[in-house]
Amino acid sequence: MATIDGLPPLREVIATHGLSARKALGQNFLLDLNLTAKIARAAGDLSGCDVLEVGPGPGGLTRGLLAEGARRVVAIEKDARCLPALAEISAAYPGQLEVLNEDALQVDWAAHLTPPIKVVANLPYNVGTELLVRWLTPKLWPPEWQSLTLMFQREVAERIVAQPGGKAYGRLAVLAQWRCSAKIALTLPPEAFTPPPKVRSAVVHLEALPEPRFAADPKVLERVVAAGFNQRRKMLRAALKGVAPDIEDRILAAGLKPTDRAEQVPIEGFCALARQVAAG
Ligand code: SAM
Repeated sequence: MATIDGLPPLREVIATHGLSARKALGQNFLLDLNLTAKIARAAGDLSGCDVLEVGPGPGGLTRGLLAEGARRVVAIEKDARCLPALAEISAAYPGQLEVLNEDALQVDWAAHLTPPIKVVANLPYNVGTELLVRWLTPKLWPPEWQSLTLMFQREVAERIVAQPGGKAYGRLAVLAQWRCSAKIALTLPPEAFTPPPKVRSAVVHLEALPEPRFAADPKVLERVVAAGFNQRRKMLRAALKGVAPDIEDRILAAGLKPTDRAEQVPIEGFCALARQVAAG
């Protein structure tokens, strides 16, 4: 069957290049080009943007991004078996696709892209959270990227967009929502992938805010939040004991109760506490 970009259907690409999925590389491929176009559209208008994609695999999402008008796509793929399939896409979109056969955790991606930059990826689940945390904790804010549109296990996606008061609310929610707007753009059943993973998946869309919602030193905030949620069943006064000697006074000065638990504390409260801790 003909495809919109004149390239072969993805099942054919996989068969031609012998791309049997490898579990160790988190390979669950999307073969429906309508679906990959939908994910690309969840990133908003791509025209005039460079897109960073991690883990293009056989290139379903890459094709979606290019068909939706991305100026350029830089795709980092660890599995060299995928390179011939990706070279066919490069040939169909001359000068618009650069493939780096590297480990996304090792590569200096920003050197390959020109702003405005959007990150769009069906991430390998084994490195997805690590990459997200790195993107959310750059040296400077606003970051080099404008938005992140990323596939995660549904449970991780729910942790990213969680509100205070529930089990899903934790370090990831605070980290993500302190300086970004965050929403689940779409959810996908296991059958959308080949092979189907055990869990449901969801695409999260994060947009970088020009400034954090509340003032705080990022490193201090990270320390306070990590301590609070590392022992999330404990009250703040016990969980944060190691953060500062007079922590109970600082909790009160931040307008919080020493008997609160971290999961009840909104982002504004963590930022107030980080300011109190940083006050010396
Ligand atoms: N984007 C494709 C799709 O939607 O069908 C493939 C997604 S698959 C979930 C994840 C991809 O990431 C695989 O192609 C895998 O080889 C690649 N990958 C795994 N670990 C990686 C890493 N550390 N750096 C770069 N790519 C990686």
